[in-house]
Amino acid sequence: MTAADRCDRCGAQAYVRVVLLSGGELLFCAHHGRKFEPELKKIAAEIQDETERLTAVPASEEER
Ligand SMILES: [Zn+2]
Repeated sequence: MTAADRCDRCGAQAYVRVVLLSGGELLFCAHHGRKFEPELKKIAAEIQDETERLTAVPASEEER
């Protein structure tokens, strides 16, 4: 996902992509991804969760 991907609910940067069993696709921010996760698991063929990127330390920072 890129910074251009936006949450369908609030317009924040998306970190969760949900591919639906019906063939559609939904994007959610970390907040809404967590909020709707129980529902999404029932209808999703695949859930791509990149919320760990929110807390990950960039490689360039790690060496300091
Ligand atoms: Zn959101």
